[in-house]
Amino acid sequence: METIDFLQSIYEASPAFIQNAGVSLYGLKIYWREHGSKFHRLLSEFESHLKWSESELQAYQEEHLQRLIEHCYANVPYYRELMQSNKLTPSDFRRVSDISKLPLLTRQMVLENGEKLVAQNARSRDRIVGHTSGTTGSPLRLIWDRHVCLLKTVVDWRQKRLAGINPGDRIAFFLGRQVAPLSQTKPPFWRHNWVMNHLFCSSFHLSPENMKFYFEKLTRFQPRALEGYPSTMSVLAGYLNQRNETFPLHAVFTSSETLQESQRISIEKAFACKVFDFYGMAERVVFAIECEQHTGKHINSDFGLVEISGSAGNVSRANQLGRIIATGLHNFSMPLIRYETSDVTSMEKSPCRCGRSMPLMSGITTKDEDIVVTPDGRYVSSSILNAVTHHLINVAESQIVQEDRNRVVMHVVPRETYSAVDTKFILESLQKVLGAEVIVSVEMVDSIPRSANGKFRWVISKVPLGF
Ligand SMILES: [Zn+2]
Repeated sequence: METIDFLQSIYEASPAFIQNAGVSLYGLKIYWREHGSKFHRLLSEFESHLKWSESELQAYQEEHLQRLIEHCYANVPYYRELMQSNKLTPSDFRRVSDISKLPLLTRQMVLENGEKLVAQNARSRDRIVGHTSGTTGSPLRLIWDRHVCLLKTVVDWRQKRLAGINPGDRIAFFLGRQVAPLSQTKPPFWRHNWVMNHLFCSSFHLSPENMKFYFEKLTRFQPRALEGYPSTMSVLAGYLNQRNETFPLHAVFTSSETLQESQRISIEKAFACKVFDFYGMAERVVFAIECEQHTGKHINSDFGLVEISGSAGNVSRANQLGRIIATGLHNFSMPLIRYETSDVTSMEKSPCRCGRSMPLMSGITTKDEDIVVTPDGRYVSSSILNAVTHHLINVAESQIVQEDRNRVVMHVVPRETYSAVDTKFILESLQKVLGAEVIVSVEMVDSIPRSANGKFRWVISKVPLGF
Protein backbone atom coordinates (compact mmCIF):
# COMPACT_ATOMS: atom_id res chain seq x y z
CA MET A 1 0.00 0.00 0.00
CA GLU A 2 1.21 3.50 -0.70
CA THR A 3 0.85 6.61 1.39
CA ILE A 4 0.92 9.15 -1.40
CA ASP A 5 -0.58 11.98 0.68
CA PHE A 6 2.17 11.67 3.33
CA LEU A 7 4.92 11.70 0.69
CA GLN A 8 3.23 14.67 -0.97
CA SER A 9 3.36 16.66 2.30
CA ILE A 10 7.11 15.96 2.72
CA TYR A 11 7.64 16.91 -0.93
CA GLU A 12 5.80 20.23 -0.52
CA ALA A 13 7.94 21.20 2.48
CA SER A 14 11.28 20.57 0.67
CA PRO A 15 13.40 22.99 -1.38
CA ALA A 16 13.42 22.66 -5.19
CA PHE A 17 16.72 20.73 -5.49
CA ILE A 18 15.52 18.16 -2.94
CA GLN A 19 12.24 17.96 -4.85
CA ASN A 20 14.14 17.32 -8.10
CA ALA A 21 16.09 14.54 -6.36
CA GLY A 22 12.85 13.21 -4.88
CA VAL A 23 11.11 13.24 -8.25
CA SER A 24 14.09 11.44 -9.80
CA LEU A 25 14.27 8.87 -6.97
CA TYR A 26 10.55 8.25 -7.29
CA GLY A 27 11.15 8.05 -11.04
CA LEU A 28 13.82 5.42 -10.44
CA LYS A 29 11.37 3.37 -8.37
CA ILE A 30 8.71 3.68 -11.13
CA TYR A 31 11.37 2.92 -13.74
CA TRP A 32 12.35 -0.34 -12.02
CA ARG A 33 8.75 -1.29 -11.40
CA GLU A 34 7.26 -0.20 -14.70
CA HIS A 35 10.06 -0.24 -17.23
CA GLY A 36 11.83 -3.49 -16.45
CA SER A 37 11.88 -6.57 -18.66
CA LYS A 38 8.25 -7.37 -17.77
CA PHE A 39 7.16 -3.98 -19.11
CA HIS A 40 8.97 -4.50 -22.42
CA ARG A 41 7.58 -8.02 -22.80
CA LEU A 42 4.02 -6.78 -22.15
CA LEU A 43 4.49 -3.79 -24.46
CA SER A 44 5.50 -5.96 -27.40
CA GLU A 45 2.70 -8.42 -26.56
CA PHE A 46 0.08 -5.63 -26.47
CA GLU A 47 1.49 -4.00 -29.60
CA SER A 48 0.91 -7.29 -31.41
CA HIS A 49 -2.80 -7.02 -30.46
CA LEU A 50 -3.05 -4.00 -32.76
CA LYS A 51 -2.67 -6.36 -35.70
CA TRP A 52 -5.41 -8.72 -34.51
CA SER A 53 -8.57 -9.42 -36.49
CA GLU A 54 -11.96 -8.82 -34.88
CA SER A 55 -12.35 -12.52 -34.07
CA GLU A 56 -8.89 -12.77 -32.47
CA LEU A 57 -9.72 -9.76 -30.31
CA GLN A 58 -13.07 -11.26 -29.38
CA ALA A 59 -11.48 -14.57 -28.38
CA TYR A 60 -9.07 -12.71 -26.08
CA GLN A 61 -11.95 -10.73 -24.51
CA GLU A 62 -14.03 -13.87 -23.95
CA GLU A 63 -11.15 -15.73 -22.35
CA HIS A 64 -10.37 -12.83 -19.99
CA LEU A 65 -14.01 -12.12 -19.20
CA GLN A 66 -14.62 -15.77 -18.28
CA ARG A 67 -11.53 -15.76 -16.08
CA LEU A 68 -12.71 -12.55 -14.37
CA ILE A 69 -16.27 -13.84 -13.81
CA GLU A 70 -15.02 -17.15 -12.36
CA HIS A 71 -12.76 -15.18 -10.00
CA CYS A 72 -15.65 -12.87 -8.99
CA TYR A 73 -17.94 -15.84 -8.27
CA ALA A 74 -15.29 -17.55 -6.16
CA ASN A 75 -13.71 -14.60 -4.37
CA VAL A 76 -15.73 -11.36 -4.52
CA PRO A 77 -18.72 -11.31 -2.11
CA TYR A 78 -20.61 -8.57 -4.01
CA TYR A 79 -20.64 -10.50 -7.29
CA ARG A 80 -21.20 -13.92 -5.70
CA GLU A 81 -24.36 -12.65 -3.96
CA LEU A 82 -25.47 -10.80 -7.10
CA MET A 83 -25.05 -13.85 -9.31
CA GLN A 84 -26.69 -16.20 -6.81
CA SER A 85 -29.71 -13.92 -6.40
CA ASN A 86 -30.03 -13.78 -10.21
CA LYS A 87 -29.56 -17.58 -10.50
CA LEU A 88 -26.39 -17.14 -12.56
CA THR A 89 -23.18 -19.15 -12.55
CA PRO A 90 -19.88 -18.54 -14.40
CA SER A 91 -21.05 -20.92 -17.16
CA ASP A 92 -23.70 -18.32 -18.13
CA PHE A 93 -20.90 -16.01 -19.34
CA ARG A 94 -19.43 -17.44 -22.52
CA ARG A 95 -19.70 -14.52 -24.92
CA VAL A 96 -18.88 -10.85 -24.40
CA SER A 97 -22.57 -9.93 -24.83
CA ASP A 98 -23.46 -12.19 -21.85
CA ILE A 99 -22.06 -9.46 -19.64
CA SER A 100 -25.43 -7.69 -19.96
CA LYS A 101 -26.89 -10.42 -17.70
CA LEU A 102 -25.38 -8.42 -14.83
CA PRO A 103 -26.85 -5.04 -13.83
CA LEU A 104 -24.96 -1.75 -14.15
CA LEU A 105 -22.63 -0.76 -11.32
CA THR A 106 -22.97 2.91 -10.39
CA ARG A 107 -20.44 5.02 -8.53
CA GLN A 108 -22.89 5.19 -5.63
CA MET A 109 -23.03 1.36 -5.50
CA VAL A 110 -19.22 1.23 -5.35
CA LEU A 111 -19.30 3.76 -2.48
CA GLU A 112 -21.85 1.68 -0.58
CA ASN A 113 -20.33 -1.75 -1.31
CA GLY A 114 -16.64 -0.85 -1.28
CA GLU A 115 -15.51 -3.69 1.00
CA LYS A 116 -17.72 -6.33 -0.62
CA LEU A 117 -16.17 -5.51 -4.00
CA VAL A 118 -12.69 -6.38 -2.74
CA ALA A 119 -11.54 -9.91 -3.54
CA GLN A 120 -11.13 -12.04 -0.42
CA ASN A 121 -7.97 -13.64 -1.83
CA ALA A 122 -6.30 -10.31 -2.73
CA ARG A 123 -2.80 -10.13 -1.21
CA SER A 124 -1.87 -6.71 0.17
CA ARG A 125 1.65 -6.79 -1.30
CA ASP A 126 0.21 -7.23 -4.81
CA ARG A 127 -2.10 -4.27 -4.66
CA ILE A 128 -2.14 -0.49 -4.59
CA VAL A 129 -4.77 1.58 -2.78
CA GLY A 130 -5.81 4.93 -4.21
CA HIS A 131 -8.67 7.35 -4.62
CA THR A 132 -10.39 9.03 -7.53
CA SER A 133 -10.20 12.81 -7.45
CA GLY A 134 -13.84 13.17 -6.43
CA THR A 135 -14.55 16.41 -8.28
CA THR A 136 -18.27 15.73 -8.57
CA GLY A 137 -18.94 13.52 -5.57
CA SER A 138 -17.26 12.00 -2.58
CA PRO A 139 -13.86 10.42 -3.33
CA LEU A 140 -13.92 6.75 -4.26
CA ARG A 141 -11.48 4.36 -2.57
CA LEU A 142 -10.10 1.97 -5.16
CA ILE A 143 -7.80 -1.02 -5.03
CA TRP A 144 -5.74 -1.98 -8.06
CA ASP A 145 -3.55 -4.99 -8.78
CA ARG A 146 0.05 -3.92 -9.37
CA HIS A 147 -0.34 -5.78 -12.65
CA VAL A 148 -3.23 -3.58 -13.88
CA CYS A 149 -1.19 -0.46 -13.03
CA LEU A 150 1.63 -1.84 -15.14
CA LEU A 151 -0.80 -2.62 -17.97
CA LYS A 152 -2.10 0.95 -17.84
CA THR A 153 1.50 2.11 -18.38
CA VAL A 154 1.79 -0.40 -21.23
CA VAL A 155 -1.31 0.83 -23.10
CA ASP A 156 -0.21 4.42 -22.48
CA TRP A 157 3.18 3.71 -24.12
CA ARG A 158 1.50 1.74 -26.89
CA GLN A 159 -0.27 4.99 -27.80
CA LYS A 160 2.86 7.10 -27.43
CA ARG A 161 4.77 4.77 -29.75
CA LEU A 162 1.98 5.07 -32.34
CA ALA A 163 2.70 8.80 -32.18
CA GLY A 164 6.44 8.18 -32.62
CA ILE A 165 7.43 8.79 -28.97
CA ASN A 166 9.47 6.11 -27.19
CA PRO A 167 10.40 5.45 -23.54
CA GLY A 168 13.44 7.61 -22.77
CA ASP A 169 12.37 10.46 -25.07
CA ARG A 170 12.14 13.86 -23.38
CA ILE A 171 8.52 14.72 -22.47
CA ALA A 172 7.23 17.78 -20.58
CA PHE A 173 4.05 17.17 -18.56
CA PHE A 174 1.52 19.80 -17.45
CA LEU A 175 -0.85 17.82 -15.21
CA GLY A 176 -3.05 18.36 -12.15
CA ARG A 177 -0.47 17.71 -9.44
CA GLN A 178 1.01 20.78 -7.77
CA VAL A 179 4.73 20.63 -8.50
CA ALA A 180 5.51 24.07 -7.04
CA PRO A 181 3.74 25.91 -4.18
CA LEU A 182 0.98 28.28 -5.25
CA SER A 183 2.61 31.13 -3.28
CA GLN A 184 5.75 30.87 -5.44
CA THR A 185 6.03 33.83 -7.82
CA LYS A 186 9.42 33.17 -9.44
CA PRO A 187 10.60 30.15 -11.46
CA PRO A 188 11.39 27.24 -11.31
CA PHE A 189 7.78 26.16 -11.80
CA TRP A 190 8.98 22.67 -12.79
CA ARG A 191 10.77 19.62 -11.45
CA HIS A 192 12.92 17.06 -13.26
CA ASN A 193 12.71 13.32 -13.33
CA TRP A 194 16.19 12.71 -14.73
CA VAL A 195 15.73 8.93 -14.79
CA MET A 196 12.81 8.99 -17.20
CA ASN A 197 13.76 12.26 -19.00
CA HIS A 198 10.49 13.82 -17.90
CA LEU A 199 9.89 17.44 -16.90
CA PHE A 200 6.89 18.05 -14.64
CA CYS A 201 5.62 21.61 -15.10
CA SER A 202 3.10 23.39 -12.90
CA SER A 203 -0.26 24.01 -14.57
CA PHE A 204 -1.07 26.46 -11.78
CA HIS A 205 1.53 29.16 -12.51
CA LEU A 206 0.72 29.80 -16.16
CA SER A 207 0.17 33.56 -16.49
CA PRO A 208 1.08 36.18 -19.12
CA GLU A 209 4.08 37.25 -16.96
CA ASN A 210 5.37 33.70 -16.42
CA MET A 211 4.94 32.45 -19.96
CA LYS A 212 8.40 33.51 -21.09
CA PHE A 213 10.00 31.56 -18.21
CA TYR A 214 8.15 28.41 -19.24
CA PHE A 215 9.31 28.71 -22.85
CA GLU A 216 12.89 29.49 -21.83
CA LYS A 217 12.85 26.29 -19.80
CA LEU A 218 11.21 24.27 -22.59
CA THR A 219 13.79 25.59 -25.06
CA ARG A 220 16.60 24.37 -22.78
CA PHE A 221 14.86 21.04 -22.10
CA GLN A 222 14.09 20.37 -25.80
CA PRO A 223 11.15 18.00 -25.33
CA ARG A 224 9.98 15.75 -28.18
CA ALA A 225 6.43 15.85 -26.80
CA LEU A 226 4.12 17.64 -24.39
CA GLU A 227 1.31 16.11 -22.39
CA GLY A 228 -1.45 17.90 -20.47
CA TYR A 229 -5.04 19.05 -20.30
CA PRO A 230 -6.40 20.55 -23.56
CA SER A 231 -6.98 23.88 -21.76
CA THR A 232 -3.37 24.06 -20.55
CA MET A 233 -1.93 23.09 -23.94
CA SER A 234 -4.19 25.76 -25.50
CA VAL A 235 -2.85 28.43 -23.15
CA LEU A 236 0.72 27.59 -24.25
CA ALA A 237 -0.34 27.42 -27.91
CA GLY A 238 -2.24 30.70 -27.68
CA TYR A 239 0.89 32.47 -26.39
CA LEU A 240 2.90 31.22 -29.39
CA ASN A 241 0.17 31.86 -31.96
CA GLN A 242 -0.31 35.43 -30.76
CA ARG A 243 3.39 36.04 -31.46
CA ASN A 244 3.32 34.14 -34.75
CA GLU A 245 5.91 31.76 -33.30
CA THR A 246 6.10 27.97 -33.36
CA PHE A 247 7.77 25.51 -30.99
CA PRO A 248 8.09 22.37 -33.15
CA LEU A 249 7.46 19.05 -31.41
CA HIS A 250 6.83 15.49 -32.50
CA ALA A 251 3.47 15.08 -30.72
CA VAL A 252 1.17 16.65 -28.12
CA PHE A 253 -0.90 14.34 -25.89
CA THR A 254 -4.08 15.63 -24.28
CA SER A 255 -6.65 14.04 -21.96
CA SER A 256 -9.02 14.55 -19.00
CA GLU A 257 -11.10 17.32 -20.55
CA THR A 258 -13.06 17.54 -23.78
CA LEU A 259 -10.67 18.61 -26.52
CA GLN A 260 -12.45 21.27 -28.59
CA GLU A 261 -11.76 21.35 -32.32
CA SER A 262 -10.58 24.96 -32.03
CA GLN A 263 -8.09 23.89 -29.35
CA ARG A 264 -6.76 21.09 -31.56
CA ILE A 265 -6.24 23.53 -34.47
CA SER A 266 -4.48 26.07 -32.25
CA ILE A 267 -2.20 23.47 -30.58
CA GLU A 268 -1.26 21.79 -33.88
CA LYS A 269 -0.38 25.17 -35.40
CA ALA A 270 1.75 26.32 -32.46
CA PHE A 271 3.67 23.06 -32.02
CA ALA A 272 3.75 22.06 -35.72
CA CYS A 273 2.65 18.50 -34.92
CA LYS A 274 -0.45 16.37 -34.41
CA VAL A 275 -2.48 16.20 -31.20
CA PHE A 276 -3.18 12.70 -29.83
CA ASP A 277 -6.16 13.01 -27.50
CA PHE A 278 -6.80 10.01 -25.25
CA TYR A 279 -9.34 8.91 -22.67
CA GLY A 280 -8.70 7.01 -19.46
CA MET A 281 -10.04 6.80 -15.93
CA ALA A 282 -8.45 6.43 -12.49
CA GLU A 283 -10.68 3.35 -12.13
CA ARG A 284 -8.47 1.72 -14.81
CA VAL A 285 -11.41 0.10 -16.55
CA VAL A 286 -11.16 1.84 -19.91
CA PHE A 287 -8.53 3.35 -22.18
CA ALA A 288 -9.14 4.84 -25.63
CA ILE A 289 -6.62 6.43 -27.96
CA GLU A 290 -6.26 8.21 -31.28
CA CYS A 291 -4.24 6.49 -33.97
CA GLU A 292 -2.34 8.36 -36.65
CA GLN A 293 -5.63 8.81 -38.61
CA HIS A 294 -7.27 10.90 -35.82
CA THR A 295 -10.79 9.81 -36.86
CA GLY A 296 -11.97 8.99 -33.33
CA LYS A 297 -10.70 7.06 -30.33
CA HIS A 298 -9.87 3.35 -30.56
CA ILE A 299 -11.19 1.58 -27.47
CA ASN A 300 -8.32 -0.52 -26.12
CA SER A 301 -10.66 -3.49 -25.83
CA ASP A 302 -7.87 -5.81 -24.68
CA PHE A 303 -7.66 -3.58 -21.56
CA GLY A 304 -11.38 -3.01 -20.85
CA LEU A 305 -14.75 -3.60 -22.48
CA VAL A 306 -16.96 -0.64 -23.38
CA GLU A 307 -20.73 -0.48 -23.87
CA ILE A 308 -22.67 2.69 -24.63
CA SER A 309 -25.93 2.98 -22.71
CA GLY A 310 -29.01 4.29 -24.47
CA SER A 311 -31.97 5.86 -22.71
CA ALA A 312 -33.34 2.36 -22.06
CA GLY A 313 -30.03 1.23 -20.56
CA ASN A 314 -29.27 -0.94 -23.59
CA VAL A 315 -26.17 -0.96 -25.73
CA SER A 316 -26.77 1.68 -28.36
CA ARG A 317 -26.42 1.78 -32.12
CA ALA A 318 -23.78 3.78 -33.92
CA ASN A 319 -23.95 7.56 -33.58
CA GLN A 320 -26.33 7.39 -30.60
CA LEU A 321 -25.16 9.32 -27.55
CA GLY A 322 -24.99 7.42 -24.28
CA ARG A 323 -22.91 6.94 -21.16
CA ILE A 324 -19.74 4.89 -21.28
CA ILE A 325 -20.21 1.61 -19.39
CA ALA A 326 -16.84 -0.01 -18.78
CA THR A 327 -15.57 -3.37 -17.56
CA GLY A 328 -11.91 -3.65 -16.67
CA LEU A 329 -10.58 -7.04 -17.78
CA HIS A 330 -7.44 -7.10 -15.65
CA ASN A 331 -8.10 -5.84 -12.11
CA PHE A 332 -8.75 -8.82 -9.84
CA SER A 333 -8.34 -7.04 -6.46
CA MET A 334 -11.48 -4.94 -6.93
CA PRO A 335 -13.22 -5.87 -10.17
CA LEU A 336 -15.61 -3.30 -11.64
CA ILE A 337 -18.05 -4.92 -14.07
CA ARG A 338 -20.37 -2.72 -16.17
CA TYR A 339 -19.22 0.37 -14.28
CA GLU A 340 -21.33 3.35 -15.29
CA THR A 341 -19.20 6.42 -15.91
CA SER A 342 -20.47 9.99 -16.19
CA ASP A 343 -18.81 10.35 -19.61
CA VAL A 344 -20.94 10.50 -22.73
CA THR A 345 -20.00 9.48 -26.25
CA SER A 346 -21.21 7.49 -29.27
CA MET A 347 -19.71 4.75 -31.43
CA GLU A 348 -18.44 5.62 -34.90
CA LYS A 349 -20.41 3.98 -37.71
CA SER A 350 -17.50 3.09 -39.97
CA PRO A 351 -14.22 1.39 -39.03
CA CYS A 352 -11.02 3.42 -38.90
CA ARG A 353 -9.02 3.93 -42.10
CA CYS A 354 -6.00 2.45 -40.29
CA GLY A 355 -7.63 -0.99 -40.51
CA ARG A 356 -7.15 -1.86 -36.83
CA SER A 357 -9.99 -3.90 -35.30
CA MET A 358 -10.27 -2.06 -32.00
CA PRO A 359 -13.62 -0.20 -32.20
CA LEU A 360 -13.84 3.56 -32.61
CA MET A 361 -15.61 5.90 -30.23
CA SER A 362 -16.63 9.31 -31.45
CA GLY A 363 -14.18 12.12 -30.83
CA ILE A 364 -16.80 13.84 -28.70
CA THR A 365 -16.27 12.39 -25.26
CA THR A 366 -17.61 14.70 -22.70
CA LYS A 367 -18.59 14.70 -19.06
CA ASP A 368 -22.38 14.75 -18.93
CA GLU A 369 -22.27 18.07 -17.09
CA ASP A 370 -20.80 19.51 -20.26
CA ILE A 371 -23.93 19.10 -22.37
CA VAL A 372 -26.51 21.87 -22.48
CA VAL A 373 -30.12 20.65 -22.47
CA THR A 374 -32.54 22.99 -24.26
CA PRO A 375 -36.17 23.57 -23.16
CA ASP A 376 -37.29 21.40 -26.11
CA GLY A 377 -35.05 18.58 -24.78
CA ARG A 378 -32.19 18.76 -27.30
CA TYR A 379 -28.66 17.92 -26.20
CA VAL A 380 -26.19 20.55 -27.34
CA SER A 381 -22.66 19.27 -26.84
CA SER A 382 -19.74 21.51 -26.02
CA SER A 383 -18.29 20.79 -29.48
CA ILE A 384 -21.37 22.28 -31.16
CA LEU A 385 -21.19 25.35 -28.96
CA ASN A 386 -17.49 25.62 -29.63
CA ALA A 387 -18.00 25.52 -33.40
CA VAL A 388 -20.12 28.64 -33.00
CA THR A 389 -17.75 30.58 -30.80
CA HIS A 390 -14.26 29.53 -31.83
CA HIS A 391 -13.80 32.48 -34.21
CA LEU A 392 -13.78 34.86 -31.25
CA ILE A 393 -10.21 36.11 -31.43
CA ASN A 394 -10.98 38.96 -29.01
CA VAL A 395 -11.84 36.56 -26.20
CA ALA A 396 -8.95 35.34 -24.02
CA GLU A 397 -11.02 32.69 -22.25
CA SER A 398 -14.66 31.82 -21.87
CA GLN A 399 -17.00 29.48 -20.05
CA ILE A 400 -20.64 28.63 -20.65
CA VAL A 401 -22.86 28.03 -17.63
CA GLN A 402 -26.40 26.69 -17.83
CA GLU A 403 -28.21 27.47 -14.56
CA ASP A 404 -31.55 25.97 -15.64
CA ARG A 405 -33.22 24.92 -18.88
CA ASN A 406 -34.07 28.52 -19.82
CA ARG A 407 -30.89 30.37 -18.85
CA VAL A 408 -27.40 30.23 -20.33
CA VAL A 409 -24.61 32.65 -19.42
CA MET A 410 -21.29 32.98 -21.20
CA HIS A 411 -18.47 34.24 -18.97
CA VAL A 412 -15.91 36.12 -21.03
CA VAL A 413 -12.36 37.21 -20.21
CA PRO A 414 -11.99 39.94 -22.86
CA ARG A 415 -8.81 40.91 -24.66
CA GLU A 416 -8.09 44.64 -25.11
CA THR A 417 -9.54 44.45 -28.61
CA TYR A 418 -12.91 43.13 -27.37
CA SER A 419 -15.93 45.28 -28.25
CA ALA A 420 -19.73 45.33 -28.23
CA VAL A 421 -19.63 43.73 -31.69
CA ASP A 422 -18.24 40.55 -30.11
CA THR A 423 -20.97 40.47 -27.47
CA LYS A 424 -23.61 40.86 -30.18
CA PHE A 425 -22.03 38.03 -32.19
CA ILE A 426 -21.93 35.69 -29.14
CA LEU A 427 -25.54 36.38 -28.22
CA GLU A 428 -26.80 35.84 -31.76
CA SER A 429 -24.72 32.69 -32.28
CA LEU A 430 -25.77 31.09 -29.01
CA GLN A 431 -29.41 31.97 -29.62
CA LYS A 432 -29.24 30.34 -33.04
CA VAL A 433 -27.99 27.03 -31.59
CA LEU A 434 -29.96 26.99 -28.34
CA GLY A 435 -33.29 28.30 -29.66
CA ALA A 436 -35.40 31.36 -28.96
CA GLU A 437 -36.79 30.06 -25.64
CA VAL A 438 -33.41 30.28 -23.91
CA ILE A 439 -32.38 33.58 -22.33
CA VAL A 440 -28.71 34.02 -23.21
CA SER A 441 -26.40 36.62 -21.67
CA VAL A 442 -22.72 37.56 -21.61
CA GLU A 443 -20.85 38.48 -18.41
CA MET A 444 -17.33 39.94 -18.33
CA VAL A 445 -15.02 38.36 -15.75
CA ASP A 446 -11.31 38.74 -14.87
CA SER A 447 -10.58 35.02 -14.92
CA ILE A 448 -12.23 31.60 -15.12
CA PRO A 449 -11.65 29.54 -11.98
CA ARG A 450 -10.17 26.04 -12.34
CA SER A 451 -11.48 23.12 -10.31
CA ALA A 452 -9.42 21.85 -7.35
CA ASN A 453 -7.38 19.48 -9.58
CA GLY A 454 -6.57 22.26 -12.06
CA LYS A 455 -9.05 21.13 -14.70
CA PHE A 456 -10.85 23.64 -16.83
CA ARG A 457 -14.51 23.03 -17.64
CA TRP A 458 -15.68 25.01 -20.65
CA VAL A 459 -19.36 24.12 -20.33
CA ILE A 460 -21.02 23.62 -16.96
CA SER A 461 -24.66 22.58 -17.11
CA LYS A 462 -26.70 22.18 -13.97
CA VAL A 463 -29.54 20.53 -15.91
CA PRO A 464 -29.59 16.70 -15.67
CA LEU A 465 -29.51 14.70 -18.92
CA GLY A 466 -32.33 12.36 -17.96
CA PHE A 467 -30.62 9.08 -18.84
ZN1 LIG B 1 -7.19 3.97 -36.48
